[in-house]
Amino acid sequence: MPGIDYRAARARLPLADVLGLLGFVPAARRGRQLRGPCPLHCSRSATSRSFAAHLGKGAWHCFRCGAGGNALDLWAAVTRQPPHAAVLDLCERLGRDVPWLLPGPRAPRHRAGGTPMPGP
Ligand SMILES: [Zn+2]
Repeated sequence: MPGIDYRAARARLPLADVLGLLGFVPAARRGRQLRGPCPLHCSRSATSRSFAAHLGKGAWHCFRCGAGGNALDLWAAVTRQPPHAAVLDLCERLGRDVPWLLPGPRAPRHRAGGTPMPGP
């Protein structure tokens, strides 16, 4: 399976969309900064502000459980998936194309060291 272009994935899968999937309801909002209950450690109170997200930066941090990262990190952490699977999952749920990391035209082609292919 080809790798994933995580830079393209971050651009394609914004934090706001991931928070929407998680049903995040901010308890406070200032500009593009949101505070609310943490989807990771499941804050008991809906008015908790331990979780901070900055939509402009696409970054989040929880002051209670200390976790933080970008949108992909958040989905991977909440759904307990490795980053690769988390991106595939997010693309499917949000209806985005998967940003596969395709080998460019200048990528060297590896040849099998002159060993002939085993015939039938
Ligand atoms: Zn937390």
